[in-house]
Amino acid sequence: EDPAKTRQKQLLREVTDMMHHLLVNTKGGEPALAYLTNRGLSQATIDHFEVGYVPADRSLMKKFLDSRDVSYDEERASGLFVEDDQGHLFDRFNDRVMFPLKDAYGDVIGFSGRILTKEASQAKYLNSPETALFNKRDVLFNLDQAKNAFKESGALLFEGFMDVIAAYQAGVPNGIASMGTSLTQEQVGIISRQTKRLTICYDGDAPGQSAADRALALVKDHPQLQVGVVVLPDGQDPDDFIQAKGAEAFAKQVQHTLTPIGFRLNYLVQDRDLTADQDKLAYIDAALKEIAQEREPVAQSLYLKQVSDLTGVPAETLRQQLPSINPKPAT
Ligand code: ATP
Ligand code: MN
Ligand code: MN
Ligand code: MN
Repeated sequence: EDPAKTRQKQLLREVTDMMHHLLVNTKGGEPALAYLTNRGLSQATIDHFEVGYVPADRSLMKKFLDSRDVSYDEERASGLFVEDDQGHLFDRFNDRVMFPLKDAYGDVIGFSGRILTKEASQAKYLNSPETALFNKRDVLFNLDQAKNAFKESGALLFEGFMDVIAAYQAGVPNGIASMGTSLTQEQVGIISRQTKRLTICYDGDAPGQSAADRALALVKDHPQLQVGVVVLPDGQDPDDFIQAKGAEAFAKQVQHTLTPIGFRLNYLVQDRDLTADQDKLAYIDAALKEIAQEREPVAQSLYLKQVSDLTGVPAETLRQQLPSINPKPAT
């Protein structure tokens, strides 16, 4: 490997240890530690993910690295600073809970920092910028640990760090996060090289559900991946669900997966008023296009029943409309 990259990784490792120390062992870290404890994280979980804290002072990181003989150029390349017009470096992250982001081998390549308050003036999460090590499109939070559980349970994909962490604490170790609502083609490629089974468990709110729908469109390019979708109730995200209903209920909920078509049949109802004929006909049209992609007769029947229940149109009538969309090839 490029020696400059190796040095950057060593530097980020030392920074991770320093920030974790600030969180768990110092007075300044107490509010952040209390924040995490309030959110239900145990000390063991905080240690496992090496969660850290950086204080409000924007010169701490600079001093820390200067004291370790890290050069200006290396500091600039680390992604830990913002630069003013004169080229002075200031800490990018301040007064944030810090989550180290690691590559598939467990080396730290960047960070994401969360604010402790609900101030709308600041971004809730701030990530490292793109660096030689950190290419956001390729990063899946917790892949280094979760991949050990893929053989048994496949990959469980969440939106956020806190979802992965809460799931881990609830005894579900195979969680990874796309870090935001848009899964990338690169991330899907990485997942499909590691496992044959992917369960998508995005937030139950509208942005989460439309992100899940976009993720399904991406994974279509990987037909060898067996894909399931978990839909959480009441707009909850996985972390909310675990805090509200507990570990056991969550473990059960993630077993309860919809097929991609089953998910689409529900999703397509959104923004449509099924009491209006126009909307209902448009829905049925879209739904039948989905169902026509299914060649298994039993699965097809289940989907037709699902649409029949939603629309009040008899399943047999719906079935009659299917072949005109996708005639079965003669065998
Ligand atoms: P929390 O539970 O701490 O509020 P969350 O994971 O539920 O966080 P969401 O709003 O659901 O937060 O966002 C999902 C993920 O999207 C986050 O974990 C984070 O990776 C990313 N994200 C959210 N807001 C931002 C932001 N302002 N900038 C960058 N990434 C963000
Ligand atoms: Mn969300
Ligand atoms: Mn969320
Ligand atoms: Mn959340």
